Amino acid sequence: MSEHIITVAGVAVDTRHWIGGERVASTQTFEDVSPIDGSTIGDISRGTAMEAAAAVAAAKAAFPAWAATSRAERARILHAIADGVEKRIEELAIVETIDNGALLRSHRRGVMPRVAHNFRFFADWLLSLEHEDFETRGHTNHVSWDPAGPCVLITPWNAPLMLATWKVAPALAAGDTVMLKPAEWSPLTASLLADIAAEAGLPAGVLNVVQGYGSEIGDALTSHPDVRRISFTGSVPTAKRIAESAAANLTPLSLELGGKSPLLVFADADLDLAVDLAVQQYDNAGQVCLAGTRLLVEEAVVEEFTRRFVEKASALKQGDPRDEATDIGPNIHPRQLEKIDGFVQRAVAAGARAVIGGHRGDGQYYAPTLLTGVAQDSEIVQEEVFGPVLTLQTFTDEEEAVLLANGTRFGLAATVFTGNRERAERITARLVAGTVWVNCFFVRDLQAPFGGSRLSGVGREGGTWSFDFYCDVKNTVTAPSGWRNHG
Ligand code: NAD
Repeated sequence: MSEHIITVAGVAVDTRHWIGGERVASTQTFEDVSPIDGSTIGDISRGTAMEAAAAVAAAKAAFPAWAATSRAERARILHAIADGVEKRIEELAIVETIDNGALLRSHRRGVMPRVAHNFRFFADWLLSLEHEDFETRGHTNHVSWDPAGPCVLITPWNAPLMLATWKVAPALAAGDTVMLKPAEWSPLTASLLADIAAEAGLPAGVLNVVQGYGSEIGDALTSHPDVRRISFTGSVPTAKRIAESAAANLTPLSLELGGKSPLLVFADADLDLAVDLAVQQYDNAGQVCLAGTRLLVEEAVVEEFTRRFVEKASALKQGDPRDEATDIGPNIHPRQLEKIDGFVQRAVAAGARAVIGGHRGDGQYYAPTLLTGVAQDSEIVQEEVFGPVLTLQTFTDEEEAVLLANGTRFGLAATVFTGNRERAERITARLVAGTVWVNCFFVRDLQAPFGGSRLSGVGREGGTWSFDFYCDVKNTVTAPSGWRNHG
């Protein structure tokens, strides 16, 4: 076996880039470490501007043929990739868990099936993509979705393969070619995806995977003049750097960024449901962009809500994410843990009280934390922590609830619990958020738009919105007369 192939829980993973249908090694590597126990998983090729340029060249060379491939054939290959994912769900699930520390049971049952579904969904959508012609004074306006070209897709570590394929699948369906750059803290499943895509018959150069630090390889990808689209999921500071870099060529951007989403509980809500779903905000150790990290509870029920919340949250089992009984795994990296604890300690120093948690656990774990006594303009209410840390504030009427809910620079999601339909309609109409849930959480149809407002993002992906982004949408206007080959 090649020295570049490591074995992770019995699964062979190639640590090199995948460029133009070949494995390419860099002279330098970076260490990939498991958040479960801090052990080294392997040394991964550390890309530079040279590999970035090679990947763009491969994607550019592969583009004309892939763009000219019929929709039916593209859809067939996407379904074959989905088949490959389904065959390897167990392998993908365990590798992802060891790499990023999220629960094995959710990778097995939720995340990896969704990865396969991303490919099936966009394959099917591609086949139904059409728009009725418009007529203007007898002229036909025909709308078409043309493949745009090579796309750079950059993804974070909190849901690596799910978020990568949420971009890769529509880009490939659209007829684009791809350079995927996964996060350096969770690089492995992107490499497995390259194997699966090759086995499914995806032509060389259509999907390229480049590994490395964003700060070292990112700019070479995002400022490249041959890149036609950049889709990025990650943090706001990185998004700003990418936007600056993309400005050189005015490359269109889709940005899916962080959040500080509110979860509102009115006194007339089903309190059991509200508590259950509020506790769910600790999922993935709080490393979920959509998490409703700001609990806003009507004064009249706050005591009862807090009592039930604390009871339920205290029963969560923190531990090894490979264990079926575990509810909360580790946080991704010692640096992230530092950051989380810094937020919490500064909040406490500013007068917040930790009703539960407020400290580190063993190893790379952080105790699920609920902070009260936080001011709306404080750092802990305004900034994304990206760890198992929630704040609790109260309100007395709808006006105050909306004011608090909308009172940050973010606008990714919001969740509302109320038993009053008219109130739900009044509140949701005023919330600034890309996704609003009413008496539910995390349910979403892939046909619906996904994205954030304000600092939470630019643009929407999902269903037709993905194709609008990954394609050059064209309007062809044809006059009713002027044909010489007809009578
Ligand atoms: P990050 O911004 O640090 O990194 C994301 C990716 O960007 C990584 O692959 C990284 O290598 C790359 N990168 C870093 N610098 C770069 C540069 N200069 N040029 C190009 N690429 C560069 O984010 P993270 O810490 O990996 O992820 C956490 C963030 O992602 C949180 O803010 C979270 O809310 C957000 N997120 C958003 C969504 C969403 O859909 N809105 C989903 C998941 C995560």
